Amino acid sequence: MDAAVPNKLLDLAVQSLLSNESAAIQALEDIPRELFVPLFIAAFKGGHKSILSAMVKVWPFYCLHIGSLSIEETHHELLKAMIENLPVCPAQNSSPRRPKLRILDLRQITYSRITCPEITTKSPFCFHSCSYSDRSITKIEGHLRLGNSGIETQSLRPVELLVDLFLDGSLVQKEFLDLLMSKAEESSGSLHVCCRDLRVDKLHNYKCSLKFFDLKCVDQFSVDKGLLSDINSILSRMAHLQSLSLFKVSFRSLSGNVFKNFLSHLHRMENLKELNLVSFYLKNHLDKVMRFIPPGLDFLYLPFCNLSSRDYQFLSQSPQATHLKLLNLSNNTMQWNDLEHICTLLVNLSGTLQILELNNCFISDSSISVLIPALIRCTHLRVLGFASNPITMPILVNIMNNLTPLMELKYVIYPIPVHCFDDWHFQGSVDRRKLAIVQLQLKTMLELAQRNDMNWITYTE
Ligand SMILES: [Zn+2]
Ligand SMILES: [Zn+2]
Repeated sequence: MDAAVPNKLLDLAVQSLLSNESAAIQALEDIPRELFVPLFIAAFKGGHKSILSAMVKVWPFYCLHIGSLSIEETHHELLKAMIENLPVCPAQNSSPRRPKLRILDLRQITYSRITCPEITTKSPFCFHSCSYSDRSITKIEGHLRLGNSGIETQSLRPVELLVDLFLDGSLVQKEFLDLLMSKAEESSGSLHVCCRDLRVDKLHNYKCSLKFFDLKCVDQFSVDKGLLSDINSILSRMAHLQSLSLFKVSFRSLSGNVFKNFLSHLHRMENLKELNLVSFYLKNHLDKVMRFIPPGLDFLYLPFCNLSSRDYQFLSQSPQATHLKLLNLSNNTMQWNDLEHICTLLVNLSGTLQILELNNCFISDSSISVLIPALIRCTHLRVLGFASNPITMPILVNIMNNLTPLMELKYVIYPIPVHCFDDWHFQGSVDRRKLAIVQLQLKTMLELAQRNDMNWITYTE
């Protein structure tokens, strides 16, 4: 179809195909390639499972990405149908339109097109193909080109299925996992299930299932509840992590072998940009973690880590904490003598820090007054959170006066001033009328400072 054909005509063609599913499926053998992408988008959005199943079988491009199409719960059946119909054994395909599809990408990513542009027809290309697994198309075809192929690879037509897995114990996820495993089995080794983002809730439930995946491909790994020893055995199979998040992880001792093993795995992750340790008891041992963090870390979350004065001091001297873009120290107590270290840390980070969270750190009026001169040097700050700290209204006003000149700062999550509570120490109920007056006063100050682009938000629950 000519590129100049008006979109309206294309829409009409797509709608007409969708209105008669069986005719549309038959027409797939003959319709122009250019119609496949708009038809796929419309069929996905409209939940036309049979059409999608048929399209995957005869998809005339090298790759197919869900991309920015939004996946809702009702779409799980569509995803499953696409996997079931992904041609992994071409000999079984009787269609005259031979399947070209080699990479099916079911991840929801905003920056991807439905199919990658075809730069040459001789060597098809996909921006998202796997680079790490020995079962990837690149590596298998590389071996074949070099004539290096064993019996195992000679008959293969490698195919990749890109997925993100959120293993939360639900039936939907269990069925999805079972489907991936049976599809890989059906392919007799030609299908590589490439998982990039792996999130696991209660790791012990999935220890066996995870043996099935080549974890070299994972770049984001998150665990909520698990033993550090189990996490170590998973990490030992990973090499290219960019983000590691551990919530409520148990281990016996900060001087034991399990923790030492964890540090050595951390040290290997040269691409690590984000480390998120929540409720990870690190008191007096943050230095160990910081020494093993690769130098390129951008995002560091340490809430509920029970940090001590010694930890803050080390953080303020650590070369790994001089260029962070995000620092979250929420829910760690900050004593008076810690403030000097926090100030040094903020000055060290002043050239890069964009997001700072110091919620519920027992920061008082006098403490925040000490921090302000260092804080206002962080001129790239975009988000600041210091909710749930015992701050009075006059100091909150002072903080706002100091922060409004930070032109990049757009979001401030501030604490409800202590006079709005019956009893702040026990987080008594909030007097809504007093809070409304506070909010009005802050809004007026923002207007006077001509900072209507700045949002001051607080938690009321
Ligand atoms: Zn692609
Ligand atoms: Zn892979």
